[in-house]
Amino acid sequence: MQYWFVSLLACLVIFSAAQSQQNEEYLEIGEKILHKGLVEEGAYTFLEKLLEVGPRFAGTPEKAAAVEITYQMLKDIGLDKVWLEPVTVPRWVRGDVEEAKIVGSQRIGDEILSIAALGGSIATPQEGITAPVVEVHSFEELEELGDSVEGKIVFFNRPMDRRHLNTFAAYSGAVNQRSRGAIEAAKYGAIGVLVRSLTLRIDDYPHTGGMRYEDGIPQIPAASISTKGAELLSESLEFENDLHVYMRFTPEMRDSVETYNVIGEITGTEYPDEIILIGAHLDSWDITPGAHDDGAGVAQVIQGLKLLHELDLRPKRTVRGVLFANEEFGISGGFAYAESAERDNEEHLIAIESDRGGFLPLGFTVDNEDQVVEYFQRYTYLFEPYGMHQIIQGFGGVDIIPLREQGTIAIGLLPDSQRYFDVHHSAKDTLETVNPRELELGAVAMALFAYVLAEDGLPRFIHEEYLSN
Ligand SMILES: [Zn+2]
Repeated sequence: MQYWFVSLLACLVIFSAAQSQQNEEYLEIGEKILHKGLVEEGAYTFLEKLLEVGPRFAGTPEKAAAVEITYQMLKDIGLDKVWLEPVTVPRWVRGDVEEAKIVGSQRIGDEILSIAALGGSIATPQEGITAPVVEVHSFEELEELGDSVEGKIVFFNRPMDRRHLNTFAAYSGAVNQRSRGAIEAAKYGAIGVLVRSLTLRIDDYPHTGGMRYEDGIPQIPAASISTKGAELLSESLEFENDLHVYMRFTPEMRDSVETYNVIGEITGTEYPDEIILIGAHLDSWDITPGAHDDGAGVAQVIQGLKLLHELDLRPKRTVRGVLFANEEFGISGGFAYAESAERDNEEHLIAIESDRGGFLPLGFTVDNEDQVVEYFQRYTYLFEPYGMHQIIQGFGGVDIIPLREQGTIAIGLLPDSQRYFDVHHSAKDTLETVNPRELELGAVAMALFAYVLAEDGLPRFIHEEYLSN
């Protein structure tokens, strides 16, 4: 045998032995993190405390209290650094009145409908709107009706498609009614919009969410209607197609407010300026405790840092937790973070966000090209013992979109999605719907992945292709 061949073989053997020793070591670390997490259920304790402040909508005193509380939580862990980063957020206030009803139906009389103004909507006129209702299921259908919707309320009633196993896909297929419905309806002269709540349950809770207006198109008031209300309205329209609805709500925009991203880190021992970020958003909508969206993510980030810190796991690169301000109403914290001059010396290799609820984790989604996703699949073995080992292509997270645009690899924690939209953006998103062990497993998964990635860094091909521009 040639000498070079023998030494190549020897190298390969040594390399793979070192690799498997490394894998063993990581697996042992995973077990330590898991055991500590499952025993203390710390994420749930953090979540419980956070929810005491009430809904954490951008610009509210409750949100300011959430900043204080989470800052103190990070401080109490004893991390290397904890700080606040200023962010300016818009302030939209829902107002006191929110009411709607079917009026003058021959068949059922007046029926109250549960509604919630969509985030960013203008108010109805003082006396409310009473107008005929036109039901549509798509923008195409609306376009066909054209100017015949003038002076009417357009009722968008396309349900989330139940056939999707991944409920986020069902949500994506319906969410444009909420985000753009008022724009599209106003093009044809409609004077108001009702949007079927984005949930797979039939109940009487309206689910709010963000909506937009567009320059040059009249702004008209828009609200979500509970699925029960939507079903009743739709059924009633079958009998009486000239049905009228009354609706009145009173939101308003106020001056912007100063708030903060809350940040804490375990500083890297060898490459402190190379960052592995774990993140979530601290705000919630105003009509909900926001336990899953995104109190769960916040609690997992804090607990993830605590687990690493208390197990004395100090990786070569920095593991940084960021609790972003105002995701729901403009991604203010995500943009402020990515644009901050503070970041100039830093290199954000990877950002992992938890913002799909505190349900049983199944793995992670990597928001990148095939070869990058394949690279991360080398870590499947780490999560296999816990059944959370799907590492697949998919969305990372809203708050980390601005970082992704700068080249950071965006990864999302992937929990089971079946129950998320039962509660999403509604008053049903409460602590009672969170299971402490499932929540903790998300913290464990984030902590373990962040630690190992902070040890390993990224290979040259990813570095050169994505990060060095
Ligand atoms: Zn969220």
